[in-house]
Amino acid sequence: MNKNSCDVIIIGGGIMGSSTAYYLMNHDDSLKVTVLEPDPTYSKASTTLSVGNARIQFSLRENILVSQYTFDVLEQFEDAMTVDGKKPNINYRREGNLFLVDDAGRDLAKQALALQKSLGCKVEWWSTQKIKERYPLFEPKGLAGGSFGPLDGHLDPYAVLMGYRAKARSLGAKYIKNQVVEIITAGPRATGVRLASGERLSAAFVVNCAGAWAADVARTAGVNLPVEPVKRQIFVLDTAVKPKGSLPLTILPSGLYFRTETGGLILLGKSMAEDPVGFDFSWDDKRFMETLWPELAEFVPAFDTLKLVRGWAGLYAVNTLDGNAILGEWPVLKGFYLANGFSGHGLMQAPAAGRYISELICGRPHPLDLSIFKPERILENKPLSEDGLI
Ligand SMILES: Cc1cc2nc3c(=O)[nH]c(=O)nc-3n(C[C@H](O)[C@H](O)[C@H](O)COP(=O)(O)OP(=O)(O)OC[C@H]3O[C@@H](n4cnc5c(N)ncnc54)[C@H](O)[C@@H]3O)c2cc1C
Repeated sequence: MNKNSCDVIIIGGGIMGSSTAYYLMNHDDSLKVTVLEPDPTYSKASTTLSVGNARIQFSLRENILVSQYTFDVLEQFEDAMTVDGKKPNINYRREGNLFLVDDAGRDLAKQALALQKSLGCKVEWWSTQKIKERYPLFEPKGLAGGSFGPLDGHLDPYAVLMGYRAKARSLGAKYIKNQVVEIITAGPRATGVRLASGERLSAAFVVNCAGAWAADVARTAGVNLPVEPVKRQIFVLDTAVKPKGSLPLTILPSGLYFRTETGGLILLGKSMAEDPVGFDFSWDDKRFMETLWPELAEFVPAFDTLKLVRGWAGLYAVNTLDGNAILGEWPVLKGFYLANGFSGHGLMQAPAAGRYISELICGRPHPLDLSIFKPERILENKPLSEDGLI
């Protein structure tokens, strides 16, 4: 095998590319795996710009199973990713997620809760009275209650990314700082990539892990993916009244969500229909001041007085067909694999997605069958249904 060829090319070295590289090397450390990543600082990667939440609370069976696997992985992540005695610190805090619903959302929430319970998940239904008792700052008037996942929680996304990356490299995966400008094809097969530097690399397998850039990358091979980059803004708040202890990630029926962050701060966000499509990373306080603060203060009157400290914008790679992952080989281009379209839940799905793609490539059995997310559903226009997207 010459220096311009390998077994697997991974386009994008974010959480998806790095977990895929790790699981490939873990299955077979004789594989030649090359990860192409133009920005090793990950300054615009969704992974590093995420809010680091992992939750069991979904309504689609496979999304719940994926999170159960993630929980197991995260519990032993620091030990499993230790390299030369150096252990990552992912700051995994299982502080819960509380999904609040109004009357209109109650039935769907209870159905999801029943499914989660049937799969062995620890989840509870909380009345408004219980919510008020547990979190006295909250004002749940007008709500029907909420589902609480005590084992849901958050982690340091950069540390998880670096953990996978360092371990994958220690097992032999090669990271190259370069951008893929074209996927090279020969008839119905992907055979390699052309890089911004002008070089070409060939491989039997090419995996698209380019996050919000996934559709642009796929288009160079004539593949149209329903994946759009959509700007999401996060706001960091210093409230005059501090909650006693941590707050779970609390999601209002409108989609507004917030949680406590280290240092006594609050992180807040909300996906909105008017969020612009495109590679726009600009951030401003207008939306928070005009819309989100009043909404927050209605639910938590004590947060009426606060200081907006800072914030940032990152991109969701929104799967416009159904908001769910697209996982597997593109049916009309052999050797071209996709791990795309994770919208707002890719961080928590990376362990299972990376492992599944590596099993497909290595021809191994799947302890967790994720074929429901197969790319064929795009061509067949058969969306999956998931009510728990944020
Ligand atoms: C504000 C915000 C909050 C979020 N909160 C959560 C959360 O709480 N929980 C959760 O699970 N998920 C969350 N997400 C979603 C999650 O961050 C993403 O789904 C996940 O990080 C996607 O990982 P990725 O590796 O696919 O993409 P990325 O992390 O974006 O990595 C893709 C990489 O591909 C590289 N790339 C792009 N083009 C090319 C090319 N042509 N050649 C080579 N490389 C290329 C990029 O440089 C980038 O590093 C959030 C996202 C945002 C924006």
